[in-house]
Amino acid sequence: VPELPEVELAVRTLREATADRSIVSARALHPAVRRTFAPRHARRVVGRRIARVERRGKHQFLYLDDGSVLHVHFRMSGDWHVTRSSEPLPAHARFVLELDDGARVILVDPRALGVVEWHADGSALPVLGPEATDPALDAAALRSRLAGRRIPIKAALLDQRVIAGVGNIYAAEALWRARIDPRTPSSALDDAALDRLAEAIRETLRIALADPGRYSSGEGTPLDAYDREGEPCRRCGSPIRRIVQSGRSTFYCEACQGEDGPPVTPRTRAGRP
Ligand SMILES: [Zn+2]
Repeated sequence: VPELPEVELAVRTLREATADRSIVSARALHPAVRRTFAPRHARRVVGRRIARVERRGKHQFLYLDDGSVLHVHFRMSGDWHVTRSSEPLPAHARFVLELDDGARVILVDPRALGVVEWHADGSALPVLGPEATDPALDAAALRSRLAGRRIPIKAALLDQRVIAGVGNIYAAEALWRARIDPRTPSSALDDAALDRLAEAIRETLRIALADPGRYSSGEGTPLDAYDREGEPCRRCGSPIRRIVQSGRSTFYCEACQGEDGPPVTPRTRAGRP
């Protein structure tokens, strides 16, 4: 599953290929893509200039010069390939944009679960919370977004309306880093826990974005919790557990995440009279 760093890399590729280019043709090559991007949508984008490309969470938005928007979400697989229009299409090509400089931008998506949608304007685009990497995402911001939410904190972190860009891997990693039990009801987290969580989310994604290959290279990944069932916790040595929450695997250390974990040193202690 492309996580935030992979999507960020893909967006950079897309942005570079499409900067100030106009669309010569747009084609959905797979029935699943045609469900949301029909020939009538293709006709609307032909001749339009791509004004800018933005990433919000794992969503990609191509803003066209008439105010319309192409919204792309890779979901389970997917990446952009850029070739010349004269070259043969690669396997698993699902959607193609031909540009006025002879370049071709191809959505290559083996699982064919990616989504391409055209919107006449920005009003119907998905509602997303603040970016996980936003420096303004602090304990107070988290508190207001989680207020009254009784769902487990792990599930809340995956809700893109709460925070945009946290996927299953980074939710596990951030909760481990913050020493929070993933089953804790969101609204039950106190200020100290929210402080640690805000910092952990930003730090986890900062590291991942700085080196996008780092968490997805399989052998020797520096993951602390995700996909480490039965392996020793790098903090306390207890085995990492796997449970299923909302149909997704959650990995955590029962010993040091949550109320029964080691006491947390208050950050404000030092310097007080
Ligand atoms: Zn532990």
